[in-house]
Amino acid sequence: MSRIVLCAAASRLLILAALAIASALARSAIAEEKGAEISALAARIEALPDRSRLLFDLTGLPPVTAYPVANPPRIIVDLPQVLFRMEANAGLSPGDKLIKSYRYGIFAPRRSRVVIDLTGPAKILRADSEVATGGPRLVIELAPTSAAYFAVLAAEQARNQPAAPPPIIPLQTAKPTTDKPTVVIDPGHGGLDMGATSKNGELEKEVVLEFARALRQKIEEGGRARVLLTRDHDMFVPLAERVRIARENNAALFVSIHADTLSASRVEGATVYTVSERASDAEAARMAEKENLADQAAGLESKADAEQVGDILFELTRRETRSYSRQFSHSLISFWREVGALNKNPSRSAGFVVLKAFDVPSVLLELGYLSSDKDLAHLTSQDWRERAAQKTAEAVDAFISARGREARAPGDQPSDAARPQ
Ligand SMILES: [Zn+2]
Repeated sequence: MSRIVLCAAASRLLILAALAIASALARSAIAEEKGAEISALAARIEALPDRSRLLFDLTGLPPVTAYPVANPPRIIVDLPQVLFRMEANAGLSPGDKLIKSYRYGIFAPRRSRVVIDLTGPAKILRADSEVATGGPRLVIELAPTSAAYFAVLAAEQARNQPAAPPPIIPLQTAKPTTDKPTVVIDPGHGGLDMGATSKNGELEKEVVLEFARALRQKIEEGGRARVLLTRDHDMFVPLAERVRIARENNAALFVSIHADTLSASRVEGATVYTVSERASDAEAARMAEKENLADQAAGLESKADAEQVGDILFELTRRETRSYSRQFSHSLISFWREVGALNKNPSRSAGFVVLKAFDVPSVLLELGYLSSDKDLAHLTSQDWRERAAQKTAEAVDAFISARGREARAPGDQPSDAARPQ
């Protein structure tokens, strides 16, 4: 550049170009304030001798907030809404000595997040967005540090931001146009919580959302209930929020949809879970433990349940609700027999957080396992999905009708239920 002699015309052009860039930047800053979308197009890791650098190619310059979280050691990177237009599982095993894996996605309305799982304690050297030669990018630089120093930083962060407010999902406001009961369908996972992944790269969060949409359509066609989805697109919803949506909408039934993986690829078929203090078996206990980590996958701290233990009305309602949950679970299993893909032990129970609404009958339908070739073929077949959703909707209709009859003829309750009065 220094050897080029700039004539007056060329320098005027340069000034004009600089002005154009400045005004474009200003425009993008304003656009960003208005909530315009920034996209992430690709990510990669650069391992430098003394640090690991995680880079995302972006289409704009978002503000960046990063902080450490302990148990297990993670770095959380908070962003305004950034759409990750890239493979959902790119960060699963990046092969870095400090970054074990990373997840990214929408965390809440207008908020996105990157969660970096660490192989050991690390400190943040840098976390911001910048314009590089290839365009705007997000830069996160981490270096190993001592466990003691990491613990101090994480504790300080937790103190300054005690229980970082969980994202608030605007409650769906589809006001009932009829007095039809509400059924809440809960597609598991979402956003940066991907759930399970098949060996071909199918994601649980996508499989269950497609099933939930098909199920909504079948139930609505039946005409007995209105349906709410806890999420209708790819976003993270905390477990407690899913329960809240069911409770605040006075749901007659809550059905959470999952499709996990197991290390034993021979295990296959659908399973229906209800909530219980003691797990029905070791596999159910493991499954609940895994599902209950969903909030942690997105960087939320798990909170102890604030249950109104000791309140007699609460206890009675909970017993009655659980009895209805079991009733629906048995009915759902018998309807599913016609689809022909049941686990050898299809009725199980464990302490699933998402099933803990004490006054909404709740089940978790594990459609099948992404780790089983046979189940995977089902789960990715539109024809199977339609048939399975149809049978599930028939079970829902049967449950809603039976509850309706009971409401008209009180006294016809499930045998092991106590009524709260
Ligand atoms: Zn799941």
